[in-house]
Amino acid sequence: MNVLPMMPGTETALQHGYAALRLAADSERFPGLARRRGWLDAVEKLLQENRQALIDAINADFGQRSSVETQLGELFPSLEELRRARRKLAVWMRPQRRPVSIWFRPARNRLLPQPLGVVGIVVPWNYPLFLALGPLIGALAAGNRVMIKMSELTPATGALLAALMTRYFEPGVVSVVNGGPELSQAFTRLPFDHLLFTGSTAVGRHVMRAAADNLTPVTLELGGKSPAIVARDADFARAAESIVAGKLFNAGQTCVAPDYVLVNAKDRDRLLAMLDAAATRAYPTLAHNPDYSSIIHPRHYQRLQQWLDEAAAAGADIRQVNPAAESLQSVRKMPLTLVLNSPPHCALMQEEIFGPILPIISYDRFEDAISYINARPRPLALYLFDRDPVRIDKVLQQTISGGVCINETILHVVQDAMPFGGVGASGMGHYHGYEGFLTFSKLKPVFEQSRWAGTWLTRPPYGRAVQWLLR
Ligand code: NAD
Repeated sequence: MNVLPMMPGTETALQHGYAALRLAADSERFPGLARRRGWLDAVEKLLQENRQALIDAINADFGQRSSVETQLGELFPSLEELRRARRKLAVWMRPQRRPVSIWFRPARNRLLPQPLGVVGIVVPWNYPLFLALGPLIGALAAGNRVMIKMSELTPATGALLAALMTRYFEPGVVSVVNGGPELSQAFTRLPFDHLLFTGSTAVGRHVMRAAADNLTPVTLELGGKSPAIVARDADFARAAESIVAGKLFNAGQTCVAPDYVLVNAKDRDRLLAMLDAAATRAYPTLAHNPDYSSIIHPRHYQRLQQWLDEAAAAGADIRQVNPAAESLQSVRKMPLTLVLNSPPHCALMQEEIFGPILPIISYDRFEDAISYINARPRPLALYLFDRDPVRIDKVLQQTISGGVCINETILHVVQDAMPFGGVGASGMGHYHGYEGFLTFSKLKPVFEQSRWAGTWLTRPPYGRAVQWLLR
């Protein structure tokens, strides 16, 4: 079973769904290893048996979403995440012994990871499956009940996932609801034991405010402008290929896509030529190319177009790579567009782009690139292309970002043994792997006294022993 049948979109239904999960969590406060493994098996079965249906649903939501990208960016990392969680679960769940200071021996200390109860997950549209299942896997591994709110921009995936959860889970374990910002606001007002929100920084602020009323702890997985720095002695061909791959995967609609590139002024034209060549090689055609995804919604297509128009009017040099002869607007495809000399006040230079537009910013000294990044909100990801270990260390130490890839883009997200999360404006907290398990657990410190304890020496009436102790 799993989820109680719920009328989509009503606040009352939302509260009923939440109440059912709360009841289930309260009636089984510590699901054991076998039970949690069973839940993870159910997620795996759901994914394996409905692979094509999920690919089709995401494709329908996007207009066109490359089937390979859906497999690489949604199914594969979800399965990797869940298999690792299942393999490691027994170790993660085991209470951890902690030392006891000499004053308290022979008592014992341990940390007991305990389920929090009911976890809420708010999902954006750009990777609707992975960003629902990634947190779900961590929350289930930690023994929680979970309520998921899908994005209004992915109705087909949301409806399918809601139906599948009821088929693959008994009632009271996972519940999926679909609805827009209004329902989402009601969702984030529910008194969850933890709330994980993935979405924009602006909405993240509202979510944190709503959660504060219930003192619900939040993990915020937000966005921002992730820079790519190309140092003078980088391997330019590889850098260009990696930047293009990271930028054009899902047509730039990736939270960790390189947002802009910082390159030495003397190398700029060389890099431009290589970016152009790499993009043309990867996507020789656009409109009907099954490897190239569409922009999710006409509104987002328009926004990107307007930002380009604004930059052009302000004097920026706009260069489309391999522009197609056929109409791209009807299929919401957009070529890689390199933007040079855009004035800093333009939206392209201020806002997260979330599309295949790539501003190129020249620096004179390497330190200027670091200063440029440090003068702006802390990014979710930072990409550095360089071969000098001293300079690499310098960038790692002098900048703060959610994560870093050296000589690569975006792949840090799918390292299932590493935590993922932003910092500052790009988010707070972590999930994935063991850190995900910890995020959704209360690591409860337990002090267990021994019958041989000497603590009576420190109790009133205070005598010599306590004075000796405090000497
Ligand atoms: P969004 O913030 O518009 O919406 C995200 C979710 O919040 C949706 O489910 C939406 O219905 C809901 N929502 C909207 N208004 C709300 C409100 N007032 N209160 C509560 N919930 C509300 O984001 P989006 O457009 O769906 O996704 C794109 C953004 O997400 C980008 O900024 C991107 O960088 C970010 N993102 C971050 C990560 C990450 O892991 N850090 C991953 C993917 C996307």
